Amino acid sequence: MTIIPYSITRKETWDAFVEMSKNGTFLLKRGFMDYHSDRFFDCSLLVYAGISPDGDFKEKSLTTKDLVAVFPANWDKEQRTVYSHQGLTYGGLVVLPEVTQKEVLDIMQAILQYYRDMMQAERLVYKPIPYIYSSIPSGEDLYALFRAGAKLSRRLVSTCVSMQNPMKMRSSRVQQARKAVDHGFYIDRMTEGDNETLREYWTLLEDVLMTHHNARPTHTLQEMQLLMSRFPKNIKLYIVRHEKSIVAGIIVFECRRVAHVQYMASGDEGRAYGALDLLLRHLINERYKQFDYVDFGTSNEDGGRVLNEGLIFQKEGFGGRAVCYDTYEVNISEVRNYPSKLEEVARGDGGVCHTSMAVPYLSLQRISASFEPELTAEVSRVVQGGWYLLGQENKRFSKAFSEFCGAKYCVPTGNGLDALTMILVAYKRMLGWGDDAEVIVPSNTYIASILAVSRAGLVPVLCEPRLEDFLINPDNIEALITERTKAIMVVHLYGRVCDMKPILEVAKQHGLKVVEDVAQAQGVCYQGVRAGHLGDAAGVSFYPGKNLGALGDAGCVTTDDEALADYVSAMSNYGSSEKYVNRMKGLNSRMDEIQAAVLCLKLKRLDADNEARRKVVQAYSEGITNPLITLPSLPSDPTENVWHVYPIRTPERDRLREYLSREGIETMVHYPIPPHQQQAYAEWNDRSYPISEQIHREILSLPMSPVMTDDEIRRVIEALNKFSL
Ligand SMILES: *Cc1c(COP(=O)(O)O)cnc(C)c1O
Repeated sequence: MTIIPYSITRKETWDAFVEMSKNGTFLLKRGFMDYHSDRFFDCSLLVYAGISPDGDFKEKSLTTKDLVAVFPANWDKEQRTVYSHQGLTYGGLVVLPEVTQKEVLDIMQAILQYYRDMMQAERLVYKPIPYIYSSIPSGEDLYALFRAGAKLSRRLVSTCVSMQNPMKMRSSRVQQARKAVDHGFYIDRMTEGDNETLREYWTLLEDVLMTHHNARPTHTLQEMQLLMSRFPKNIKLYIVRHEKSIVAGIIVFECRRVAHVQYMASGDEGRAYGALDLLLRHLINERYKQFDYVDFGTSNEDGGRVLNEGLIFQKEGFGGRAVCYDTYEVNISEVRNYPSKLEEVARGDGGVCHTSMAVPYLSLQRISASFEPELTAEVSRVVQGGWYLLGQENKRFSKAFSEFCGAKYCVPTGNGLDALTMILVAYKRMLGWGDDAEVIVPSNTYIASILAVSRAGLVPVLCEPRLEDFLINPDNIEALITERTKAIMVVHLYGRVCDMKPILEVAKQHGLKVVEDVAQAQGVCYQGVRAGHLGDAAGVSFYPGKNLGALGDAGCVTTDDEALADYVSAMSNYGSSEKYVNRMKGLNSRMDEIQAAVLCLKLKRLDADNEARRKVVQAYSEGITNPLITLPSLPSDPTENVWHVYPIRTPERDRLREYLSREGIETMVHYPIPPHQQQAYAEWNDRSYPISEQIHREILSLPMSPVMTDDEIRRVIEALNKFSL
């Protein structure tokens, strides 16, 4: 989305857009607004779909057909207030009929952010276009405002008659109209340019308003003359005459499907003999039969003071129903960046603003925002509590997460790597494994799994994965087992659970420990059992980008083995379970209380978030049909994958990635260099793990998170299907 301020060179574009829109009326055309231009500083906006290449605003790249909304507004610099309607009967967002509800929300949010960031506006006063003016009635603009904390500041009541379904006119009104005819009143219309008639009516109007209501018309006669000469097709004056003189009259603004009554007045004689009844009956029954509504216009003034109760009653007697002209106020300076597609608001040249709507790979900002206000409240609670390590929050999390996995114990740690490392170190010391003890790990995992083995002073033995699911291939394990083998580390890579049954069988046969790396798969199940409870022990990471992520580093160990849990717990705290008593040479790897509180909160939504990821996957797997791309296979039981990553494969990976980046779609490669080719494992550099190498060459991760919008998903699918060599 790109937002630019209105300028005179876009006048025609603006008018054409209002014409095509679902809720614009001629009242929002530039000619009408510009007529006020000397009174107000214009800060109207144009909203274009799409972004200019490189995130750089290029005016020419925005075509009229990309225009999705316009926002008429005036700016009171002193008050730092934006008015959507200053000088207009009403204002508000004008959109095309095909713009979705969700898009309206995003557009309104972008507009608020624009005024906040680009103009340092403090307030928006918004008087929306009443629903009767929309071809498709809707209120997303208001919903967006409420989301931003808007308050109703003023309500004016109008009365309108629905033409599709008019109510019967009251007999008293019909009688009054007859009285008018009998008295010799007749209806006339001011011809174009007949300023004499307009002046005469205006005198009557001013007189009536002054004597009966102590009020003046909003417009001056000169302004009305000017408007009528500019919009002769839209603004009409109907009058009732007796003999030659004017006894009553109504000025009507003819909008697309609504006849909007602006100035209605009747002199004493007109009142006595029902002149307005005659005229209104004519307008409703004859003149505006083809319209959707006749809007009688508000009959109250500032503060909702009723101008003329009799008049309101009279209008209601014609079958009118109330329609509200509300005014809302938003404190813009307090508008927060709502989780939406708006990733960035960049300033272009000359005050031009451009909001780029790139599809992020994963927006942690948006995820955090989706947990507000509870997230911030939890953090503050811990901060204010004054206890930051090894406290109640750790206990709470430990209980919640062990219950979640079904494991007996959960020991919080500083991060995932430490969790895995400490499991292996604990086993090594408790079971007396030597330095030559071997642990089988997948050759294509994230290097941290392998580092844990190395850090524990054990020997990693790499096992090739299956190409179809990227997981350790149980068929390859047996051949790697020696008398030194002590454990198998399974990694539920990309969120998919490993094929546990054959792995557990081999492990049992050879007396091996099975350690799970659950860094990427919190919540995944294997035949109804959660990861974290599928082997002898599991190391979990809560790195911010994981499915369950902290606001920094955190991890844990889960196990049913009490001795192991105790050992790890002591090791994570300098080897001490009792203060200043050290059982072993430990480390310092603890989860801080803030992270524990955050994780408790986020854990409650983990299953729902994983389900949201599955929805994205469903859309991807149904939508992406490009034969150049191999999609990841879907497990027959959907709970076997929590889709930490949605990995596609293509031999043209780098070209595809570049292309997607140009399309504004961020992707990742998990991972570009296989562990055995890393400098960190130089001793393996001349080895060959062909499946692993192929995966690392071809794999590409598409945007994936539980907070992706439908529009983002659609854009990713469309871009992928358009990709060709
Ligand atoms: C993230 C990750 C880790 C390490 O977790 P940290 O909390 O970052 O130390 C280990 N293994 C895998 C597979 C990972 O993705």
